Amino acid sequence: MTSPSSGSRIDTSRAHPARVYDWLLGGKDNYPVDQEVAEKLPKEARLNAMRNRAFMHRAAAWLAGNGIDQFLDIGTGIPTEPNLHQIVQGIVPSARIAYADNDPIVLRHAEALLVSSREGATDYIEADVRRPDAILEHARTFLDFSRPVALSMIALMHFITDEEDPYGLTRTLVDALPSGSYLMFSHGTTDEHPHLVKSVTTTYRKGEIPLRMRTRAEVEPFFEGLDLLDPGLVTATKWYKDSPAPTEELSGFYVGVARVP
Ligand code: SAH
Repeated sequence: MTSPSSGSRIDTSRAHPARVYDWLLGGKDNYPVDQEVAEKLPKEARLNAMRNRAFMHRAAAWLAGNGIDQFLDIGTGIPTEPNLHQIVQGIVPSARIAYADNDPIVLRHAEALLVSSREGATDYIEADVRRPDAILEHARTFLDFSRPVALSMIALMHFITDEEDPYGLTRTLVDALPSGSYLMFSHGTTDEHPHLVKSVTTTYRKGEIPLRMRTRAEVEPFFEGLDLLDPGLVTATKWYKDSPAPTEELSGFYVGVARVP
């Protein structure tokens, strides 16, 4: 586990994405500033967070079931059971999972992420997706990049503005993966809730959290050069591999799993 000495203090004067999201999932690791943002979000936000998390469970289980035993998860969030490694190691006990998040509160909870199965291993690094080379450098010390790795970026890239080059950052990470690797990805959108665009973005902005919801056409380029698996780029509630989506539930996330050719 790595924690840089600077910047690791918990700032309770400003809202943080990990803590707002924790509130949405019903967690307790949040402060009044975060609650203020979360409570002003439309009621759909809670459901959307849970439906996004459920997609993560299904995608991770499917990848583990198909032989992937190494995961690099960026934007991990405050631990919420079951965490990615619990799902994956429940299927492949020897799996190795490297976690990364830039919020010091996630680091503080990292012990929960580090309780690995005996046969496998987990690792946590405090790191920023805007510095992909640093993440890769650390991940290479823990994962074997000569074998397939699943890169997991769930509910992360809508916190990256256009100026910060979200597509280029993703490309740098994906380019480091060997053939046969996967990208599991989800991204916030208001396509299915057009009436909520304003309230969601202004609420986050008031809490000084930059949020860049993207349309389907804007999410597609994250998968450039990759082979999207069925059912393709869909909203979180429509991503099912073995059984069809049970309902027509709406979602605030586009999701996809793609293979590195
Ligand atoms: N992936 C989890 C949590 C999503 S919440 C899930 O889907 O359940 C988004 C997470 O991304 C938060 O924990 C936040 O701290 C993290 N995050 C936001 N910007 C980041 C950045 N630039 N680098 C790394 N992590 C970031």
